[in-house]
Amino acid sequence: MKRLEFHISYICPHKCIFCSEYDRMKNFERHPLSLLQIKAILIDRRKKWFDHVNFTGWEPTIIPHFLELLKFTKKLWYKIYVWTNWTMFYGDNFAKESLKYIDELSLSVHWYSEETCEKQVWLKYHYKNFSKIIENIEKYKQDNFLFLNIVINKYNYINSEKIIDFVINTWYSFKQVLISLVAPEWSARHNFWELVFDLEDFKKYIPGIIWKANKNNKILRFFWLPSCILWEKYIDYANDSHWEERHTIERFFNKSWKVSLIDVYSPDNSRERCFVDKCKTCKYKANPCTWVFEKYLEYYKFD
Ligand code: SF4
Ligand code: SF4
Repeated sequence: MKRLEFHISYICPHKCIFCSEYDRMKNFERHPLSLLQIKAILIDRRKKWFDHVNFTGWEPTIIPHFLELLKFTKKLWYKIYVWTNWTMFYGDNFAKESLKYIDELSLSVHWYSEETCEKQVWLKYHYKNFSKIIENIEKYKQDNFLFLNIVINKYNYINSEKIIDFVINTWYSFKQVLISLVAPEWSARHNFWELVFDLEDFKKYIPGIIWKANKNNKILRFFWLPSCILWEKYIDYANDSHWEERHTIERFFNKSWKVSLIDVYSPDNSRERCFVDKCKTCKYKANPCTWVFEKYLEYYKFD
């Protein structure tokens, strides 16, 4: 499979405390990609044998003509993955039409109550809308592969099990849960001090999370987590073991400060991460582990 990560949107109604895209995307709010531009890139990459596209950005589903884009993309025989804060799935028609074309859908939920929702995404109504959104997805789903994505940070890392329970109790029939650490990039880099937590402390919650996922027949992955935090017997739960190379297409400023597009190749998942002394002799070095966030070392020990 040849993977494309395509930042098609530069707007989002949320303001998540951990959003790593905020600064960067804000720069391009007034430079949206047209439907024609997106289509032209999809055609070009399909000719280059790309066959899997992840529509992302800020929030991809809110761009104009998103449903038309899905239809078009499917005609090119792409497998379509959508990573969303799921606002648009509140609408019956949107849920019904989009789920005809989306192969893999990842819903982000980082909370389990109105209060924790407001803390994480700054919007109370998001919590209130959740049951209707899940009802729509469950009503109109076809054979879509459904994911749950939980970004953990200082305020919710002890609550991963509670969040999984909360989502299961809404009857969202996700097959895979991704527990993601906050990446110290862009805005999240500036306030990383406010988000980062001690991975040694997180260790004590890991067996419970694994037990919960297994008991409910969910596939589980920990994203960005150094493999040694998981212990040998849990190594397969590290997303590094399952990473596939990809190309990311996104807006950027070129040398003359003109808004342009860039194609970034990522052969592995080592972005913002570094070796420490103990990695030198570690059998997981680079296979599968791609280490620890360099920025993490400013706050906690990792030896
Ligand atoms: S929903 Fe996603 S893009 Fe929007 S603010 Fe939250 S993390 Fe950022
Ligand atoms: S390579 Fe380093 S970070 Fe990864 S498992 Fe080994 S010691 Fe830990």
